Parts: sequence; structure tokens; C-alpha cells
Amino acid sequence: MIRTKKQTRPDLMRRIISNVLTFAALTLCAVTVALWIWSYGDVRSLLSDGRFDGDRAWRNYYLVAYRGQLAFELEQISYLRQPTTAPTNRWSAEDAVELYTLALRGFPFHGPLGFHFLRNEGTSAAGSARLTRLGLPLWAVLVVLALPVLIRCGRLLRRYRQRHQKPGCCRKCGYNLTGNVSGRCPECGLET
Ligand SMILES: [Zn+2]
Repeated sequence: MIRTKKQTRPDLMRRIISNVLTFAALTLCAVTVALWIWSYGDVRSLLSDGRFDGDRAWRNYYLVAYRGQLAFELEQISYLRQPTTAPTNRWSAEDAVELYTLALRGFPFHGPLGFHFLRNEGTSAAGSARLTRLGLPLWAVLVVLALPVLIRCGRLLRRYRQRHQKPGCCRKCGYNLTGNVSGRCPECGLET
């Protein structure tokens, strides 16, 4: 194919943006694969944040990776009584641990194909705790990220084929069709 049209500025911009996005998606694919491998072991905490939610309540947010899943967790703890106050830690570690283990108990990372949503509540003498978790399988994350990369690769391959196509030859297999009147490639059967 002979290129007669000069590449315009918007075309060039679109191609640059497309290349950058493809590269970003490819990088994220690699990160996801690494995370997937790394997730087999202990619960891997990627991000966590916590803050007071009223006087006797505490909220913790976690982003964790565990056994091929990426999960967002919200932990809500309410204390019935004022726990023994330490200068650096408002609540005693004992209470927090007690409530946290209570909330986590019987909370497996199970779900159809790795998707899951679970909520568990528990109470103890110290108060109550609730854990909400939304889990996504990393394979699904990988599929979403790989899709634009595969589409781009398909386009590049098609363009490469178009450029290297010889006139009078089959589009699919390159067989010379000079003098062929059947309208069908004798080599691969493609209609010409
Ligand atoms: Zn052919």
C-alpha cells in the first residue's frame, strides 16, 4: 500500500496518546502479574488508613492482596467503654486486637471465580466490630488491562500486513493470483 496522505497533526497526537496508553496498560499488566505472584503468602497490605469516627469509634481502611485477589476492606470498631488510655495510643492494643480478630474470624477470601463481597460483625465485652470486604480477582484486573494492549497489537499486525502486501497476491497467504479467474485463492480458499 502506498501512503499518499500526509499525516496530519491530530493524527499524530492521537497516535502518541494511543502509544502512551498502551505502554501504561502494559506496565500495569506486569505490575498485576507481580502482585498476583506476591499475593500467595500472607495477607499483603498495600495501603491502609485509619481515623476516629466519633468519640468511641474507629474506622480503618485497607487495600490488601491475598491469594490472587485484590480486596478493599473497611473495618469499623465501636467501643462500649473508654479503654485504658495510653499516651501514644488512644485505645489499648488488647481491645483493638480482640475486636479485630473477632471481626476477621470466619472471614475467608472465597467467592465465585474470586469475586466476593462479605460483611461480618461481632461483639465482645469491649465493644463491637464490623468488617466489610470487596474482593476482585487479579485475573479479571489483568483481562481488563490486557484488552487495549491486544487490540493495539492486532491493529499493528494488520497495518504491517497491509504494507507488505504485494499487488495481485492473496491478502491472507500471499499466493500469486495472477491469471486466477475463480475468485478464490487456490492455496487458502480466501475469496478475492
Ligand atoms: Zn490465499
